[in-house]
Amino acid sequence: MRVVVVGLRATGAVVAEWLHRRGDEVTVVEERPGQPGYAERRDHLEAAGIRVIESAPDWEGLVSAADLVVPSPGVRPDHPVMLAAAAANVTVRGDLDLAVEAATVPVVVVTGTNGKSTVTMLISAMLEASGRRAPAVGNIGRVALEAVDEPADVLVIEASSFQLHTVTPTFRPAVAVLLNLADDHLDWHGSFSAYVADKQRSFRYQEPDGVVVANLDDPAVVDAVRDAPGRLVGFALATTRPGAATWVHGRLLDPDGVAIEMDVDGDSLAPHERSNIAAAVAAAGVVGATPEGIALALANFTRLHHRTELVGKADGVLYVDDSKATNPHAAVAAIRGYRRVVLLAGGESKGVDLGSLRQVADRIRAVVAIGDTPEEVEAAFAGVVPVTRATSMRAAVRAAADLATDGDVVLLSPACASFDWYDGYAARGEDFDREVQDLLAERGPT
Ligand code: ADP
Repeated sequence: MRVVVVGLRATGAVVAEWLHRRGDEVTVVEERPGQPGYAERRDHLEAAGIRVIESAPDWEGLVSAADLVVPSPGVRPDHPVMLAAAAANVTVRGDLDLAVEAATVPVVVVTGTNGKSTVTMLISAMLEASGRRAPAVGNIGRVALEAVDEPADVLVIEASSFQLHTVTPTFRPAVAVLLNLADDHLDWHGSFSAYVADKQRSFRYQEPDGVVVANLDDPAVVDAVRDAPGRLVGFALATTRPGAATWVHGRLLDPDGVAIEMDVDGDSLAPHERSNIAAAVAAAGVVGATPEGIALALANFTRLHHRTELVGKADGVLYVDDSKATNPHAAVAAIRGYRRVVLLAGGESKGVDLGSLRQVADRIRAVVAIGDTPEEVEAAFAGVVPVTRATSMRAAVRAAADLATDGDVVLLSPACASFDWYDGYAARGEDFDREVQDLLAERGPT
């Protein structure tokens, strides 16, 4: 088969090599060569006999001579390669689509607007603690195709909406988890309904014996799974509905109503964390996790970096890094976990209105706007909460510290992507952490 792979970053490199090993004739196109690690990836592929093109080619010519196009996750739906493939009727499949078809063990796919990485990690940990080999792959870090030929009992895959955009009817995971749905990436998908339609592809092609795990607290999710072909297993913060994982008086119940015996008191967790845990319990149980394994995994649960991570404490003020909150829905969840917040927010809003942050305004004492578009943050809080502008993370941390008093939480939960100031959310979180440490060191022990 002649295949065009678009993009030569981590995913494109793995896809190209995997297809080449399978015997396909592969051409890779990278329109912006020179990213970190690019030269090594190119040299490695070329040494294997794979053709690499380093500028925009004649897309129509290239695509019409191909049998398959595999775009990297970030390639936009209106990119010329996608238009050329549609015009020439050439099949488009993403990396996850190839991985799920190639997998020889049951696959759990985790998607939703927020909580994907956390739940992917939890499901994997619950299965591993139950004695099953269950690597966590996909958007969380390791490219899924890399793991399909390795020994495992279950593959747990985090799927972004971009990756789901390019799946075909062979995409039939044993379990599809839909965590929540809120505005995100509207500039890429074009509209909320297009975004939801892509998320629905996680379960849309399942057989009736497939399972869709759905958040019963989220009306958009309930609506989205209404016509799902598979069996529904629910999860909720509180429900009396049978067959759903849930919490009752701080105790966790699996979908069979079996209590998970553990030390973690649900009431000590933020609501979104309880929701994520219930989701993981519901999904992991379908593919072999035991109540004991689940309890063990939860006892060892630590938050991933940059997800409401405590990074400092001084004068009764907590400093919390939630840089991974790249949309308002995530920031609202984080803010709900605290009583009084000085919020650092702003960045690239991706076409999403920040106004929904106002629903938690009663918990926010002050806002420090970061990023290149502070006016969007100001507009979101106009007349409700005072907003100060900062032109660097250093200035933002210092302004927040001056505004905070005993009992407050200085929370970096930007509700926006970071690409105006940084390479990604991790770099933004690290900068925040560093500035907090600097400030606390300067101001001395308390
Ligand atoms: P994702 O992989 O979907 O980005 P993460 O687990 O990395 O999800 O969490 C991203 C951000 O979303 C975190 O900053 C956290 O505060 C917030 N978050 C996590 N789970 C939820 C949830 N269930 N609902 C709303 N926000 C959440």
